[in-house]
Amino acid sequence: MTAAPGEFDLIGRFFRRTASLPAEVLLGIGDDAALIDWTPDKALAVTVDTLVSGVHFLPDTDAFKLGHKALAVNLSDLAAMGAEPAWATLALTLPRADEAWLAGFSHGFFSLAARHGVTLIGGDTTRGPLSITLQVMGTVPKALALKRTGARPGDRVYLTGSLGSAGLGLKMLQGSFPATDPDLIRCQEMPQPRLETGRCLRGLATACIDVTDGLAADLGHILAASGVGAELQYDRLPLADPVQAYCRTSGDWGFPLQAGDDYELCFTVPAHREARLIEVMTAGGVPITRIGHIVAATPPRLTVWRGTDPLILTRTGFDHFADA
Ligand SMILES: [Mg+2]
Repeated sequence: MTAAPGEFDLIGRFFRRTASLPAEVLLGIGDDAALIDWTPDKALAVTVDTLVSGVHFLPDTDAFKLGHKALAVNLSDLAAMGAEPAWATLALTLPRADEAWLAGFSHGFFSLAARHGVTLIGGDTTRGPLSITLQVMGTVPKALALKRTGARPGDRVYLTGSLGSAGLGLKMLQGSFPATDPDLIRCQEMPQPRLETGRCLRGLATACIDVTDGLAADLGHILAASGVGAELQYDRLPLADPVQAYCRTSGDWGFPLQAGDDYELCFTVPAHREARLIEVMTAGGVPITRIGHIVAATPPRLTVWRGTDPLILTRTGFDHFADA
């Protein structure tokens, strides 16, 4: 039996046309945002994401939180490029014209937009099953854009915030974990894009990605794009107490590496820039943790050491089509 093609196989086979990129496209498919030549020193960063009811959010999710999250997940991609957000277009498909829902959604959306200087400049509204597609554009100095391709052996691997909290929050919302923790549910419903951190990483990080589909999968994209491997120490992973407790009681040690929706930044930094990184991040107030390092490896591979044993991951992360 042939396995169903995954999301990234489908993109590679049907949509990637690298041979025909025009000169103004500085970076095409395969990173957190595309980069277009914009001014002599700035690139336009463009990203798009869709949230589908029942796939990305539970059908009864509060509209305010949904408006926030739709924008936050896009801004997270710009953060991963070190970009400054500026404009957005919104395509909204609604089952019906529910004014109370629209009031909540737009309030959530514009509250976050105001905080990050984002202006809504266009869109489309259609009738159908609830689905939200948002495109966000921003700018970044061309020479300083953070990409997935620059990780080199010896670089340290860092992560902002903590892992698995949003994933465990989702289990609580779904009722598959018998507890309620408002902090974890907030991580799931109201992620905060790491835009300031992304901008601070310009000139420091050699590669960067936002963790959306699980750290194993997303760091895997950096490894594939850079042609390197990574070794992580499980004991160094920043895990909130309830996430640690969940791993212990369930025995699912891979959970924090495979759960999605963290919206943290994973990035690599050469050893000689570490002191500067710590200085900048301490001033910014966002916690970062060194979780491992980059190694030479062909083909690229990720090894997670739990003590002296490698952790076996049953799957690397969320893929929309892999299990179809
Ligand atoms: Mg991303």
